[in-house]
Amino acid sequence: MSLASYAVVDKDSKGRAYPEAPPKDGRSEFARDRDRVTHSYAFRQLSGKTQVFTPASNQCGSSPSDKILYDDSMRTRMSHSIEVAQVARSIARALNLNEDLSETLALAHDMGHTPFGHSGQDVLNDCMKPYGGFEHNIQSLRVVTDLEHRYTQFKGLNLMFETKEGILKHCSAKNAAVLGDIAARHRDKKSPTLEAQATDLGDAIAYMCHDIDDGIRSGLVSPRDFEDVELFGRCWREVQSRLSGQPEALQVQETLRDMMGLMIRGTIAHSLQNIERYGIKTLADVRNSPEVILLPDGLAQQHAQLKSQMYKKLYHHQEVSLVRKDVEQVIGGLFQVYMENPHLLPAGPAGETRVQPNDTDTQKARVVCDYVAGLTDAQAYQQVKRFEPLLSAQRTLALF
Ligand code: MG
Repeated sequence: MSLASYAVVDKDSKGRAYPEAPPKDGRSEFARDRDRVTHSYAFRQLSGKTQVFTPASNQCGSSPSDKILYDDSMRTRMSHSIEVAQVARSIARALNLNEDLSETLALAHDMGHTPFGHSGQDVLNDCMKPYGGFEHNIQSLRVVTDLEHRYTQFKGLNLMFETKEGILKHCSAKNAAVLGDIAARHRDKKSPTLEAQATDLGDAIAYMCHDIDDGIRSGLVSPRDFEDVELFGRCWREVQSRLSGQPEALQVQETLRDMMGLMIRGTIAHSLQNIERYGIKTLADVRNSPEVILLPDGLAQQHAQLKSQMYKKLYHHQEVSLVRKDVEQVIGGLFQVYMENPHLLPAGPAGETRVQPNDTDTQKARVVCDYVAGLTDAQAYQQVKRFEPLLSAQRTLALF
């Protein structure tokens, strides 16, 4: 079946920075992008990076909490990205969009994420304040344009323009001013492609469901913490009456599945109405219209309520915050050690020395930041332990 007239298609794409012959095996250009992402180093690293819980803290001996039932099946940034891809593809397929592009964006959207989830990002951003800051969307773009090193002809993965543009989901005016064409839509206040919109919403739907799942399995929260919030409560009560007497763990799974289905179906119906309402026929119409792939108003409000309950009960839970305290020590410690001793940085992907003798502090800081952001949780812990003698006394005390 051919794609909708407003979908992104190979032939109308702005293409790759370095022109390449089309794939010889019948794949679309965007399927090729997805495969480049899947085979990349940064994508594999996501399997060792925190989503909400940090199982590595148990193995690495840094303030493990005995109140959290850590489990290696907890979501990581990689399983999160795969679940986002599943939701994004369901929406894209139903709207007859370019499913390969939505999938690629989902798999790539967190490639620039630091170890230790959002606290890792906050700490690295603090370290980088004097040198231009750190932001994970821009970092994801840096990974695919600069940091991956797998080809002789170019740096990065040489992805399609629309893929790179979709990866740059948010961007400050200051950054947009220097990022060229890729950030044009941020400067001109245009909407992202529908494929990117499907992925953005897929992210919000996926994390809500899987973070509740992991939260309950961790023992820190229970269905009682969410039953008064409509989106969860309505599905939960319906499941309890339909499946009364079944084990609670299975009732939770049924509830989360129903909740996800409700949000996906609601999004598809509402988005089709919006496409009709704004008279969207072409990709240019998409860019000039408000965003259309959205939850219907009622569900959007309920999603926001559930999100704020998640912050209260889970993301800001004391036991989750305990691990966060370590993050400042680990990420801050590594940043300090590598800034003071750049020769300790391992060689780059092509065997190159990462910091050159005449690099400015800003250049050096960016190299250190790229390296630290690319580590898994466990690598970061292991390295900071090895550098214990080089850490400031204050950091050493807090860590060990
Ligand atoms: Mg995400």
